[in-house]
Amino acid sequence: MADTIFRKIIDGQIPAHKVYEDDKVLAFLDIGPLSRGHTLVIPKEPAETLDQLSDESAAALGRVLPRICRAVIAVTGVKEYNVLENNGRGAHQAVMHVHFHIIPKPGESEGLGIRWPAGSLDGAEGQQLAAKIRAAILS
Ligand code: 5GP
Repeated sequence: MADTIFRKIIDGQIPAHKVYEDDKVLAFLDIGPLSRGHTLVIPKEPAETLDQLSDESAAALGRVLPRICRAVIAVTGVKEYNVLENNGRGAHQAVMHVHFHIIPKPGESEGLGIRWPAGSLDGAEGQQLAAKIRAAILS
């Protein structure tokens, strides 16, 4: 497991503006915010990508994520926001330690910009694909 900058923040080796901490989760302000209040929520478990995370850490993250979103809304006064979690360098992950971004969207020019090249789902292909994913979840 890579020794990332987030590991150093968890260990207190480098500073961060912390907003929440418990035994499994840490949240702090992003050093390069896309908008005011841009916050990162990370598990203390050193998983690189979400698919590698334990159920225990995932549950701990899921429990506090909405609570931290509510706090960011309350403090920034911005009700619209994106929650983003990148996995892999090709998917724009720069720090190889799972992290959820909470990014307030105060207006068109601030916050997260998204390109969304939607295709269309064929009925038969959708049926097969969903069946395969269902089976993979159970295995
Ligand atoms: P990613 O592209 O991996 O999803 O996002 C990594 C995020 O971590 C970026 O938004 C970047 O600004 C943030 N970041 C990188 N290094 C540091 C740091 O040392 N401290 C803090 N607070 N944020 C960091």
